[in-house]
Amino acid sequence: MEKNMITDKLNRPLRDLRISVIDRCNFRCQYCMPADSFGPDFEFLPRSALLTYEEIERVAKIFVYLGVKKIRLTGGEPLLRRDLPVLVEKLSAIEGLEDIGLTTNGVLLPKFAEQLKKAGLKRVNVSLDSLDNELFGKINGRGIGTGPVLEGIEAAKKFGLGVKINMVVKKGLNDSEIVPMAKFCKDHNLELRYIEYMDVGSTNGWKMDDVVTKKQIHQLLKEHFNMEPVNPAYFGEVAKHDRYTDSNVQVGFITSVSESFCSSCTRARLSANGQIFTCLFNGNGHDIRNFMRNGATDQELAGRISAIWNDRADRYSDERTAETNKQRKKIEMSYIGG
Ligand code: SAM
Ligand code: SF4
Ligand code: SF4
Repeated sequence: MEKNMITDKLNRPLRDLRISVIDRCNFRCQYCMPADSFGPDFEFLPRSALLTYEEIERVAKIFVYLGVKKIRLTGGEPLLRRDLPVLVEKLSAIEGLEDIGLTTNGVLLPKFAEQLKKAGLKRVNVSLDSLDNELFGKINGRGIGTGPVLEGIEAAKKFGLGVKINMVVKKGLNDSEIVPMAKFCKDHNLELRYIEYMDVGSTNGWKMDDVVTKKQIHQLLKEHFNMEPVNPAYFGEVAKHDRYTDSNVQVGFITSVSESFCSSCTRARLSANGQIFTCLFNGNGHDIRNFMRNGATDQELAGRISAIWNDRADRYSDERTAETNKQRKKIEMSYIGG
């Protein structure tokens, strides 16, 4: 697309794009896709509704043209989408894109890590909420132990992918794992990011009382480790970091509930069926799949995406209360991808 053909300018920064490639998952994590809501009869998106890899590539190029520097692939479980390395390869070739990552439950990494690395993937974030087999099986709703995830982490390291670990902390469920997970990750040279349990979607039964805040996690960690804060690496960085003073390993906190960061939010989300969400807590997205399939030019697509972004006034986390959580219709996490 010719630069000088575009008259649409963004009036707020857009740096980061999350692309959900599939809404299905092989887990049923109770904070994300509880098994009683996502049972055998649940209707996932049909294949024809999903954006093709060519469509994703086209939209991604326009987002990069508009300023996006980082793309993260997510889901559902992104590695369940057939031939994901093919998409990674297409995206890696986009000029101006600086970083491409993947968020995964890790189980399929032994199969795909090598191909993903060869295709140009830089980093994976692997979700692991407990080291205890029984508890982990209970959390993922499928009785799957930690073994397959740990093997996935090893495979990613072996093939040279950067690895970070994501741990959602829910009070009374896995807060007992905060310190063991920290020790494990520190010993294995892995950055662990604690994620405050969020009220995404409407099936997980979220209550404010279930949230363990960054402050509480930090206090607990300080009883076991010497840590010092690390300055943000760039504007809009979502995680806040500390470093263990006796190593170079960092630990991160995603404080979406206790210390919201809407004013510096530069992230757009593209769902697997081609809807743009300007906030994780939107109820409806803005369709661009049918717009594209009906023959929109790149110019028109860029204009539409700019208009959607310029119109946004999202600050859900800044305004969150127990009441706003009940009042609002929100899209499920497995659909929009975190
Ligand atoms: N299946 C992949 C995985 O689990 O990493 C990618 C999709 S998952 C929706 C993306 C991230 O969202 C994961 O790190 C997961 O732990 C996190 N997540 C899911 N539900 C959440 C919730 N209610 N609150 C906070 N984080 C959540
Ligand atoms: Fe699946 Fe990831 Fe959601 Fe767990 S958090 S149910 S692995 S999409
Ligand atoms: Fe961005 Fe919405 Fe999260 Fe605020 S609540 S940081 S606007 S995604």
